[in-house]
Amino acid sequence: MTEELFRDDATLRECQATVLALAEGGVILDRTVFYPLGGGQAGDAGALLLADGRRLVVTDTRKSKQQPGAVLHLLAPDADLTPLLPGTPVTAQVDWARRHRHMRFHSATHLLCALVPHPVDGCSITADYARLDFHMVEPLDKETLSAGIARLVAEAHPVRHRWITEAELDANPGLVRSMSVQPPRGLGRVRVLEIEGVDLQPCGGTHVANTAEIGAVVVTRIEKKSAMTRRVVLGFAG
Ligand SMILES: [Zn+2]
Repeated sequence: MTEELFRDDATLRECQATVLALAEGGVILDRTVFYPLGGGQAGDAGALLLADGRRLVVTDTRKSKQQPGAVLHLLAPDADLTPLLPGTPVTAQVDWARRHRHMRFHSATHLLCALVPHPVDGCSITADYARLDFHMVEPLDKETLSAGIARLVAEAHPVRHRWITEAELDANPGLVRSMSVQPPRGLGRVRVLEIEGVDLQPCGGTHVANTAEIGAVVVTRIEKKSAMTRRVVLGFAG
């Protein structure tokens, strides 16, 4: 329903689009660069620019619950929706500074997955911090993990995604074994995110193009959430 341009190019900051409908408190466009909340990653904010120069602030982005495949651009409660008739052309402009922080953190969480070889049972990525919950009983060391992330960032590994079919997955048991998360089944194809030589896992999120772009990310806190869960919190250094 909404073409998700960010799935194939996470660097797009804006796109031309057409209003399809107003629904569920948001604006549905035919295409978008706005990432909707999902896979632990926060939804994008930004603005819709109209031909007459008006600028409508987008506060958050969600997947529609009623129309599978549609992306909802949520506007401020007091926004004037009258100019957004179906068929209206807009420029959808993402808050890039905020989104790029999501991308840096999201790629950093994949580095953590490579450093901590245990199943993940929770994940949250925002502009200010990211956290990852590992299903494990062993203690984790903050300084060791921060040093591990810094090393992988300094090594400048390329980051890329690709789509593979379930048949390809089945034909390459080695590929599945190297994945830190098992892919969802039944959709026909799976988007996998590869950090060359470091990590491979199914992921629909937006990422930087190279680990060097993650910059100075450190572990700010490690919590024992339960007997079987260790939470690792990431922040930007300095
Ligand atoms: Zn991911």
